[in-house]
Amino acid sequence: MCFISSSTLKIDLSNTGGKMKRNIDAQNLAEILRKKSVDLKNKVCLMANLKGTKQEKDLSLPVNCRGFGRIHHFQLTPDPSWISDPLPMLPTSKYLGIPQEEIIQAQVFQLAACNFRCWYCFVDFDLLSANLKHSSFITANELFGYILEEKVESRVIDLSGGQPDIVPEYPLWFLQARQEMGLEKEYLWQILF
Ligand code: SF4
Repeated sequence: MCFISSSTLKIDLSNTGGKMKRNIDAQNLAEILRKKSVDLKNKVCLMANLKGTKQEKDLSLPVNCRGFGRIHHFQLTPDPSWISDPLPMLPTSKYLGIPQEEIIQAQVFQLAACNFRCWYCFVDFDLLSANLKHSSFITANELFGYILEEKVESRVIDLSGGQPDIVPEYPLWFLQARQEMGLEKEYLWQILF
């Protein structure tokens, strides 16, 4: 996932190998998807469920949290011939007061909407279009509940896309849920775009 600021940018997707052969109006699509993806009154947003999707087939570990989650391993030095990447290992060890490790496991959740269609995206586009076949409105508290229920050992909650800036409120709801459930000393969180 990546961050591209929403604007009236139009993306030419003509070289996407037949995935999509038209321009999209990213600003207009963001507005449409936001309406479909968030319920501000109930502080809930549309989260992707990976069960039975093309993305599930790409994963090296089974989906978890009733299909809403997946595990990702971050590595400090993924390639010895390249620079090391300290995120999220360094802030995690500092925040949680634990030894820094070469590899850290993150619990990932994906917002089910994105107003871009990057040719290199590894997320099934069905998981980016607020498609209710592959997503549900679910609260941060419910997702934390699944983590606890399944005894997931991750120390990082990774909020991913989709395009998180379509619903910029939802990281705050996760922070609030973490506090309400007394998990502030258990999980660091980060947003990956
Ligand atoms: S299409 Fe995929 S890679 Fe591009 S911004 Fe959306 S989620 Fe990220």
